[in-house]
Amino acid sequence: MKPVIPNSRFQSPKSLRGVVPVGPAAKTLVVGLGISGLWTTRWLAHRGVKVTVSEIRPEQELEEKVLRELRDMGVSLETGGHREETFLGADLIIVSPGVPQDIPPFLAAMERGVPVMGELEFASRLIQTPVIAVTGTNGKSTVTEFLGLLLKNAGLECFVGGNIGTPLTAYAAGTQKADYAVVEVSSFQLDTIDAFCPFISVILNISPDHLDRYSSYEAYVQSKLRLFKNQEAGSFLILNDDDKRLSSINPASQVSVLRYGIEKRKGRHATLENNKAKASLNGMESKWFSLESFGLVGEHNLENLLGCVLVGLALGLNPRVIQETISGFRGLPDRLERVGAHDGVLFYNDSKATNVDAAVKAVQSFDQPLVIIAGGRDKGAEYSPLVRASRDRVRGGVFLGEAKGLLAKSFEGIIPYSMAGDMEEAISKAFSMAQRGDVVLLAPACSSFDMFSDYSHRGRVFRSAVEKFVHG
Ligand code: ADP
Repeated sequence: MKPVIPNSRFQSPKSLRGVVPVGPAAKTLVVGLGISGLWTTRWLAHRGVKVTVSEIRPEQELEEKVLRELRDMGVSLETGGHREETFLGADLIIVSPGVPQDIPPFLAAMERGVPVMGELEFASRLIQTPVIAVTGTNGKSTVTEFLGLLLKNAGLECFVGGNIGTPLTAYAAGTQKADYAVVEVSSFQLDTIDAFCPFISVILNISPDHLDRYSSYEAYVQSKLRLFKNQEAGSFLILNDDDKRLSSINPASQVSVLRYGIEKRKGRHATLENNKAKASLNGMESKWFSLESFGLVGEHNLENLLGCVLVGLALGLNPRVIQETISGFRGLPDRLERVGAHDGVLFYNDSKATNVDAAVKAVQSFDQPLVIIAGGRDKGAEYSPLVRASRDRVRGGVFLGEAKGLLAKSFEGIIPYSMAGDMEEAISKAFSMAQRGDVVLLAPACSSFDMFSDYSHRGRVFRSAVEKFVHG
């Protein structure tokens, strides 16, 4: 079976393709100098567009290499905060996903009618490549990586990036000619799309997260659902049908909706049966996939897998290639990653469980009794789902970081717990609570920014603290 390379109209509408509403004379403001801001700046500056970058961090905190590059490109740089006049003086503002848009300079610019565009929208107008877009509260990176491997195994040229690793603007600026771009998309990126239109979109799940940035949970849900707002007949929307919010979606457009789920329900395009994945686009000829060599733990990863299988079938890939990818995919670091063992106790690193639902799924992924290490920066969600999931499975907890008091309050009277000041102390206290055959699991349910530069830094610190604990 030949893979389908769809008509590129399933990218941004033709009328907008290649249309970046700035000429060289326009004043463009790039807000946020992270990796996507930097690539946006490069794209514009190399085409002679006048660019200013506004960044909240002071200049001393920026890398010298980046500062030099900006100087060489002739870019003006405003650091240590965002000035309202800079925003009001721009003809177009391109915002990075990390920057909230309810800050006064943005509000003033929007009131004045200055167009504001997100980096994803910007990039998608520059490319012809059909996009496979993956969103959801959890599992985006895992699924994006899986799909990258799947397409590679199918012999297709593929760009993998977006919210994970390399921004789509880097692809737009580069020379790679991919058959598909697999793009991880966050809610913050979806807040600033307009014409972005994936060929295939996948929504994995929605649960409370980022409530420190959204006015309500509903606002966050609505942001996720923007992913398919521009999709039409001939394109695909793949939904997790076990997720309450997603199962009730019936788009008004003619987009083909494919649903997957583990719970037994009729009318699903992919499900589990007899320990195998069973999938069909038309509800007739089913394809079966063995899960025997699937390397990831947890039911949530089987859900993710069903979504990936549907992407493969929607692309017309050979089922043999899908099977080969299922058996060969090893997952990503910091997602339920086994990092050591000592005296019959296993240590798992799920540092990427930065919200409550991911931590719940982590706890539910093990048959053995657990000791959990949780805490970090609180994001405003209730911990009660984690308390419920822990009741019969978790022997004890060790809490650290800014949220340790909140966690202790939530777990009071449910499990024994103690507090730790750093990761080494947390590991040693967790080990002393554990018994042979138990798992010590880092599943923070919080962001890492109170003590670490990001989740991956937290994961590294956990890994090396386990190493030190085990080998002295
Ligand atoms: P994201 O990019 O959305 O943050 P990751 O693949 O990096 O997703 O995983 C983030 C966390 O969510 C990890 O702790 C992982 O174990 C967990 N996770 C992965 N898939 C799911 C899912 N379908 N439902 C809930 N949690 C999940």
